[in-house]
Amino acid sequence: MSTKQPRCPTCKKTVDKEGNDSFPFCSERCRLQDLGKWLNNAYTIPGSSPDRQHDGLSDFAEELIE
Ligand SMILES: [Zn+2]
Repeated sequence: MSTKQPRCPTCKKTVDKEGNDSFPFCSERCRLQDLGKWLNNAYTIPGSSPDRQHDGLSDFAEELIE
């Protein structure tokens, strides 16, 4: 009775898991839309070195912990 109806992350429509190749999305279109959004985010990382940023953050975190 308390089956939680999953919702499409793209359009928030309820999705049937059964026989749905695009689950958790309601359709292939929504799946591709979400994938595109994700890829866009991945590519918006600026050209600056991520290592440098990571080192700075972890140094700061270590200081806070110790
Ligand atoms: Zn959808």
